[in-house]
Amino acid sequence: MAMNSKRKQRKKQKLVKMYGDCCCWCGQKLSWKQMTIEHIKHKSKGGGNDIGNLRIACSPCNNSRGNRLYPPGFLPVEWRFIE
Ligand SMILES: [Zn+2]
Repeated sequence: MAMNSKRKQRKKQKLVKMYGDCCCWCGQKLSWKQMTIEHIKHKSKGGGNDIGNLRIACSPCNNSRGNRLYPPGFLPVEWRFIE
């Protein structure tokens, strides 16, 4: 398993508490296993691992997004994090 697995789990719990258990892109309700941690601002674009830059997303959305700001066909549920 990944080295940060435990920390990731805790981060995930925190994100669920803050934003709910739905994908931040498509709004689908997700089970714990379906949830992935999404970086709103990509690391390659200077995004960090702080909780404000992270959201819960399903893996189809997370994967389809690639380096775009949001996945094709989706608008973010909330949009207050981009300056
Ligand atoms: Zn989704």
